[in-house]
Amino acid sequence: MSKAIWADVLATLKGALGANNFSNWIEPLELTRLSDGVAVFDVPTNFIGNYVSQNFGDHIIHQLNKKGGDVQRLQFRVPSQSAAAPKPKVAAARKTNGVDAASGSPLDARFTFDTFVVGKPNELAHAAARRVAEGGPVTFNPLFLYGGVGLGKTHLMHAIAHELKERSPELNVLFLSAEQFMYRFITALRERKMMDFKQLFRSVDVLMVDDVQFIGGKDSTQEEFFHTFNALVDGQKQIIISADRAPGEIKDLEERIKSRLQCGLVVDLHPTDYELRLGILQSKVDVYAAQYPELEISDGVLEFLAHRISTNVRVLEGALTRLFAFASLVGREITLELTQDCLSDVLKASDRKVTVEEIQRKVSDHYNIRLSDMIGPKRVRNYARPRQIAMYLAKQMTSRSLPEIGRRFGGRDHTTVMHGVKRIEELKALDSQIADDLELLRRALQE
Ligand code: ADP
Ligand code: MG
Repeated sequence: MSKAIWADVLATLKGALGANNFSNWIEPLELTRLSDGVAVFDVPTNFIGNYVSQNFGDHIIHQLNKKGGDVQRLQFRVPSQSAAAPKPKVAAARKTNGVDAASGSPLDARFTFDTFVVGKPNELAHAAARRVAEGGPVTFNPLFLYGGVGLGKTHLMHAIAHELKERSPELNVLFLSAEQFMYRFITALRERKMMDFKQLFRSVDVLMVDDVQFIGGKDSTQEEFFHTFNALVDGQKQIIISADRAPGEIKDLEERIKSRLQCGLVVDLHPTDYELRLGILQSKVDVYAAQYPELEISDGVLEFLAHRISTNVRVLEGALTRLFAFASLVGREITLELTQDCLSDVLKASDRKVTVEEIQRKVSDHYNIRLSDMIGPKRVRNYARPRQIAMYLAKQMTSRSLPEIGRRFGGRDHTTVMHGVKRIEELKALDSQIADDLELLRRALQE
């Protein structure tokens, strides 16, 4: 019974986590017991157990329960060494993950330069990636790409790999995530195959490591990464790294590695702006139009989505996929109304929560006054007007009460805030400059 549930869950997990995660982390698990709300797994190492528990635990519990498992908790056990010979499954997992596998992660065929939409926020990163993808003599080493989640780092790295492989098939291009780097390193240690490991990593022509922030705090992995890195740089081999933040800001990363990472070209992908989001949506719609030729999409829908959905492109894509699937299911045109119905949860989640402090900062920047003057006691018009505008926006854009807002403006009384809000309401109707400023500020705060 429990085996059947697990088999069911495995199929779902494979789809949800991707083939690579699946073979690295899920396949080595063996469900040995499912009772009293606990699912017990045999795992080859504690490391795998901890990793799975931290990264996929909730997901696995959720899926088990969906199939009727009634599970509250997962437990991972390493079978004792004295137990019988390793189970075939473990042996198989070792082989696929072992250091003798010279390939990196599979590349997503859709992540090419052709499908990457370029806009202001990513133009520099794109240009640098293009440059590296041309091959030729190494100009900056490493290329370090960083930016928030879902802004296209992995996409750009795959694009570089595709292009390099096409231009120079003889090059040994290795792309892998930092966690895979660590996993291989640890496997090599465990299996006493460090020589092979070193050899493999030092024989590549281009090394790409995605999400390198992951090795922060993992001391021995950092150390090995550092040596690999140096050996490749010394050998004039190109290295391309991505992370979710700048090298200097990666937590628990050794100083010498930080400075090494800064030696080449460091470029960031900025959060998307409206134009880029619209461009991306348009390019994706072209793909969907071919897939769902019967579907119509009303004017204004893409603009609406580009306005309302956050900067994360993955969320944007997910919304569009859902929208097309839903419209095709109900056989209706994609109108604004249908969009709002279908995506109400996504739209709600991306309503940004703005804080009073952010509003104060934005407004003081806009009017070129110091934050301390906005909050402070001075009542000259130069400070008082921006202060009232900030109070008005705070009332409009946050759920703070008047007394709470007053407190954040240097302990002013709630009647002062009320007066300020009223004053701006009046002025907004009379003074188009103020109305424009308000609109601009509101939009900037929602970005
Ligand atoms: P990151 O690695 O920065 O978290 P990804 O590269 O995985 O982000 O991108 C998330 C999704 O958004 C991918 O499906 C990717 O194709 C898409 N995407 C991101 N930026 C762009 C862009 N500029 N043009 C087209 N698609 C993009
Ligand atoms: Mg990524």
